[in-house]
Amino acid sequence: MAFDIEMIEKVYATMAARVDKARELVGRPLTLSEKILYSHLWEGMPSQSFTRGKDYVDFAPDRVACQDATAQMALLQFMHAGKSKVAVPTTVHCDHLIQAKVGATTDLAVANTQSKEVFDFLSSVSNKYGIGFWKPGSGIIHQIVLENYAFPGGMMIGTDSHTVNAGGLGMLAIGVGGADAVDVMSGMSWELKFPKLIGVKLTGKLNGWTAPKDVILKVADILTVKGGTGAIVEYFGEGAKNMSCTGKGTICNMGAEIGATTSTFGYDDSMRRYLAATDRQDIVDAADKVASYLTGDDEVYANPSQYFDQVIEINLSELEPHINGPFTPDRGTPVSKMKEEAIANGWPLKVEWGLIGSCTNSSYEDMARAASIVEQAVAHGITPKAEFGINPGSEQIRYTIERDGIIATFEKMGTKVFTNACGPCIGQWDRTGADKGEKNTIVHSFNRNFSKRADGNPNTHAFVTSPEMVAALAISGDLTFNPLTDTLLNDKGEEVRLNPPTGDELPKRGFDVEDAGFQAPAADGSSVQVAVSPTSDRLQLLAPFEAWDGKNISGAKLLIKAFGKCTTDHISMAGPWLRFRGHLDNISNNMLIGAVNAFNQEANKVKNQLTGEYDAVPAVQRAYKAAGVPSIVVGDHNYGEGSSREHAAMEPRFLGVKAVLVKSFARIHETNLKKQGMLALTFANEADYDKIQENDTINFLDLTEFAPGKPLTLEFVHADGSKDTILANHTYNDSQIGWFVAGSALNLIAAGKA
Ligand code: SF4
Repeated sequence: MAFDIEMIEKVYATMAARVDKARELVGRPLTLSEKILYSHLWEGMPSQSFTRGKDYVDFAPDRVACQDATAQMALLQFMHAGKSKVAVPTTVHCDHLIQAKVGATTDLAVANTQSKEVFDFLSSVSNKYGIGFWKPGSGIIHQIVLENYAFPGGMMIGTDSHTVNAGGLGMLAIGVGGADAVDVMSGMSWELKFPKLIGVKLTGKLNGWTAPKDVILKVADILTVKGGTGAIVEYFGEGAKNMSCTGKGTICNMGAEIGATTSTFGYDDSMRRYLAATDRQDIVDAADKVASYLTGDDEVYANPSQYFDQVIEINLSELEPHINGPFTPDRGTPVSKMKEEAIANGWPLKVEWGLIGSCTNSSYEDMARAASIVEQAVAHGITPKAEFGINPGSEQIRYTIERDGIIATFEKMGTKVFTNACGPCIGQWDRTGADKGEKNTIVHSFNRNFSKRADGNPNTHAFVTSPEMVAALAISGDLTFNPLTDTLLNDKGEEVRLNPPTGDELPKRGFDVEDAGFQAPAADGSSVQVAVSPTSDRLQLLAPFEAWDGKNISGAKLLIKAFGKCTTDHISMAGPWLRFRGHLDNISNNMLIGAVNAFNQEANKVKNQLTGEYDAVPAVQRAYKAAGVPSIVVGDHNYGEGSSREHAAMEPRFLGVKAVLVKSFARIHETNLKKQGMLALTFANEADYDKIQENDTINFLDLTEFAPGKPLTLEFVHADGSKDTILANHTYNDSQIGWFVAGSALNLIAAGKA
C-alpha cells in the first residue's frame, strides 16, 4: 500500500529545470497548474509554449486509479495489451458495487456474494499485473487516494470523474475513460487539450458554521454546472492557507460539479500536516526541497487577472453556510434564505434523512464537527427528527473515528453506519419507501444530487450541504432550520440553541487501522491465473478487433441516422446496464437504444434493410453482422457528448459498425472511436446530413488512400438507384491511421508498435 517515494522523488528531481524552462518559453510567471502541466510533458523538457484551450498536448501522468465499475473494461483491455505489468503505479478500488441497506456488515456480505466474480476478477488481474487492489469495504477510491497516494505537484488520471479530489493535496488529478487509463498503464502518453485557468482567490477565514464545503457550493452557484468546462480551477490566497488539507479535497472533489478538468491548491502547511499524519513525512521532506515549484509564482497571485482566464474572489469571513439543490448542485441557497426559497418553490420542508460521508466529506474534521452537533443535541435532550446515515470514506477513517468515540456519538441518535463505499451516493441505496415515488426531502454532504441519484425516487429532493449542516438539519427535521439564528425544542419543551461545530482537523492520537483492506500485487505475476468463466453474464474476455483488410468498404447499410442530441448515455445507457460493464457482448444489447431515429422520431426502432422490418437497433445490427454486411451510423452535432465511457465506442465496433459520420463530435468520444479502430468522420458540408436516406447503401471510394488531412469520399446509393457523393473530413494523424489499420490502438500496443 506504500506510496512510491522513489517515483515522487524522480518527479521532483526534474521539476525545477522543466518549470524554469517553461517560464522562459512562456515568457511570464507561471500558475501552479502550468507548473504541473509543463513538468509532466511526455517529451520531458518543454520545447515550446502551449495555447490554453487550443493546443492538444501529450502528458505523462504519474499514477492511475480505477474504481470497480469502470475498472472491468479497462482491465479487460489492458490484458489484451500484451504487457506483463503496468507501466505506472496503479490501483483498483472496490466501492461502487456495494449497496447500502441494513448496515455495513450485512451489506458488505451481500455485495461480496452478488458481485463475487467481478471482485475476484479485479483482484486476480491486479495481482497479475502489479496493480494495488483495495478490497470491497476498504473504502472509496478518492478518499484512499488522498490518504495514501496523492502528492503535491503530481499528475494522475483516474477512471472516475471525482478523481479531481486529489487536488486537495496539490495534484492535478483528472477523470478519464478506461481507454485513456489503459494507454497510460501500457506506457503510452495521455492527450489533453491544454486547459484554460480559473483562479479563485480566497480571503479571510472560515468561522462558525461555515465549512470548506460552502466554498465550492458558492463557486458552483457562481459558475454553474458548465462554468468550469475545459478549465483547471486554482485556489489561492490567505483563505486557502487557513483551511485544512481535507477541506481542500472537498472543494476540489466538487470541481467535477462545475465541469472543471480539475482543481488544485498550492503546497502549504495544511498539506504538510496531513501528509505527516498519514505517515508520509518522506513526501514532506522531498516536497519541501522544491516547495517554490509546488505553488504558483508570487506575481501570479498578486495580479491574478493578468494570468488567469477568469478570477473569482470569495471572502471566507463573510461566507454563509450554503444548501444547494434540489436536483442540481449549482442551485445555491445561503442558509438565511432557505426558508423563503423552500416555501416559494414548494419544496418538502420535512427532512427525512441526513447522510454524511462519501468521497466528498469523509475527513476526520468532517466527522468530528458533525458529531459535535449530535453531542449537543443529545446533551440538551433533543430528539432527532430525521434518520441519519454515514458512509465512511475509508476503513482508516472508520476505524479511527470508532476508536475516538465519534461513531458512538452518532449512534446516540440511531445513526446507520453503512459500508465504507459509495452506497447512496451512486444510487446503491435500498431505501425503504423509495419505490413509492413520494415527494420528500433529504440532505447530504455528497457531491451530486441529480434526480434519482440517491435512492432512485425522482421525487426525492436532495440538498447538498456540509456535514455539520446535515447534522443540524437532520436533528431539526426541518429544511428551513437556520442553526445560526433558530432554536430547537428539547424534551422538556425548552428552547435550545446549538453552538457552532467544533472538531479537530486531524486525530490527536493519529490515524489507526487494523486491516485497511489492501492487497499488494504479486512481485512476479506471470504465474497468476485470471479466471473468467465462459458462461458468466458479467465478464467476458476480449478478443482483438480485426485489422483492416486494406480494401474500400462497400455495400454498407445505414444502421441509424440519429436525430438531435446523442450523448454517450444514448449510445450506451447506464442504470441497469451497469452490471454488464465487464461483458462487451451483453452490454452491446444497449447500443444506441436511446438515440432517436431521424426517419420516424422514435428511439430504438430502425429499419432492417435486409428484411424491410423495423426492430431494435442492437437486433438490426446483429442481423447485419450475422450476414457479413458492414454498416455505418450517421449523427448530428456534438455526437458522443457526456461521459468518457469507452463502451460507447466499443459496442458499435464489436457489433460490426464500420464508421460514424456526424456533423461534429464530442472530442473524447471521437478519440475513443479512433482508439477502437473505427472511422470517425464529419460531414465536410453539414447540409449533406439531409441527403442521407433510410434505405441507403454506402460505398467508400478512396479509403485505400486514407491519409492525414485528406477527406474521404463516400457514395450514398439511394433506393431508387440515384446517388449522392459526400465528402467526409477526419482528424486522423499518421499514428491514429495506424490504429485503424491495425484494428485498434490496443492491437498496436500488443504488437509492440505503439
Ligand atoms: Fe462517485 Fe459518490 Fe463514490 Fe464519490 S462516493 S466515487 S461521488 S459514487
